Amino acid sequence: MLQDVTEEFLIGDSLRVNQVLLNLLSNAHKFTPEGGSIKVVVVQLSRKSSTVFLRFTVSDTGCGISEEMQERIFKPFEQESAEIAKTHGGSGLGLSITKNLVELMHGAIKLQSKKDEGMTFTVDLSFAVEQRSEEYEPTDFKDIRALVIDDDGGTIEYTSIVLERIGVQFDVAHSGEEALSIIYHRGL
Ligand code: ADP
Repeated sequence: MLQDVTEEFLIGDSLRVNQVLLNLLSNAHKFTPEGGSIKVVVVQLSRKSSTVFLRFTVSDTGCGISEEMQERIFKPFEQESAEIAKTHGGSGLGLSITKNLVELMHGAIKLQSKKDEGMTFTVDLSFAVEQRSEEYEPTDFKDIRALVIDDDGGTIEYTSIVLERIGVQFDVAHSGEEALSIIYHRGL
């Protein structure tokens, strides 16, 4: 999900950003049992001249970690317990590499967790704004009307942001039934 992100083209180390997000997401996936949920949110914290500050949050509803472990988790070869190593595998290196990558980009990484209540990682990074010479013309799509149908609020919000930005008029439905009713009443 995106919040308040005004810039579409940024200059940064995409390979490292991808690696950081992949590491956090693969852990979230590994430690969240079936029926749980994983959420990624990107928020633009601020913009100063040609630099934007983004916050990436990866949260899950999985097993979380104890307070004592939170102090050690970014150190190499640390895992919660031998049991975790046996059941989930891994080397205990992922998060120490992740922290190194974030610091190489002059960013910061933090975590918040409660045992058995999930985990939230927050990564703050800055990016330069790319000045594009050809300005995008938002009125190109003004004759198109779209209907966004999804039962996931986050997906609806993200799609709405994209459509709004490119100038497409749209309606939103949270279910198939609601979609049919909108189509019927508005003659779409
Ligand atoms: P590994 O490659 O073993 O997963 P990491 O450095 O990525 O190594 O993670 C270290 C330990 O931190 C994991 O073994 C696990 O105990 C704990 N951990 C990491 N991410 C999560 C998460 N999302 N939920 C619960 N525990 C986690």
